[in-house]
Amino acid sequence: DYDGETRRHYLGVVDSQARRLSELIDKFLDVRRIEEGGFAQVEEVVDIAPLLREEAQLYEEQSRDHSLELDVPEQPLPVRGDPGALRQVIGNLLSNAIKYSPDGGVVELAAGLDGDSVRVIVRDQGMGIPATQQPRIFTKFFRGDVATSGISGTGLGLAVTRDIVESHGGRIGFTSAEGEGSTFWLELPGANGGDDGSKENDPQERKEGET
Ligand code: ADP
Repeated sequence: DYDGETRRHYLGVVDSQARRLSELIDKFLDVRRIEEGGFAQVEEVVDIAPLLREEAQLYEEQSRDHSLELDVPEQPLPVRGDPGALRQVIGNLLSNAIKYSPDGGVVELAAGLDGDSVRVIVRDQGMGIPATQQPRIFTKFFRGDVATSGISGTGLGLAVTRDIVESHGGRIGFTSAEGEGSTFWLELPGANGGDDGSKENDPQERKEGET
C-alpha cells in the first residue's frame, strides 16, 4: 500500500512519460509527412492574426513563470497555406521560448506586414544558444547542450517548423546570445490582392491617360 503522496508522485511520473511518448509520436508523424511532401497540401487564404492570438493565449495558460506579450495589429495578416501547419509553427516557437527560459521571464510574440510579406517574431529572455551550436539547431534530432540539462525534447520541432515555413514559400531565422535569450523570426509571402475578387488592381480599370 502507498500513501496518497507517493501515489500522486508516481501518477505524475506516468503522466509526464505518457506525454513525452505522445509528443515523440506526433513529431515522428510530422517528419514522415514532410518527407512524403505532405505539408502545404491545403491551400487557403489564412489570416494568421487570430491564429497568433489563440496560440498566445494557449501558451500563456501553460506557464505561471512567463508573461506573454502580444503585439499583433488589428489589421488582417493574410497568407496562403495550411492553417493547421501554420499554427504548429507558432506553437513550436512559443513552446521553445518557454521551455528554454526555465527561470521565467517575458516571451514576446509580435507580427506585422512588411511590404508584401507577413513577419512574425518570437523573443525570449532565456538561456540562448551557444554560438558553436547555432548552425545546427534546424538539424533533425540535434539538441546541443540541453540534451543533458533535463529539459525534455526530441530535436525535431525546429526541423519540422522550417520545413513548414519553406513549403509555404517563407524563410525562418534567429539571433541568439548565450545567457541572454533568443529571437526567432519568420517571413511568409502575404496573400493580399490577387484572388479576392476585388477589381482594385485591375489594369482595365486604369484611369484614362495613365501610363
Ligand atoms: P527540442 O526542443 O525538442 O530539443 P527543437 O528542434 O525545437 O528541439 O530545437 C532544437 C534545439 O535548438 C533545442 O534542443 C535547443 O538546444 C535549441 N533551441 C531551440 N529553441 C530555443 C530557444 N528559444 N532558446 C534556446 N535554445 C533553443
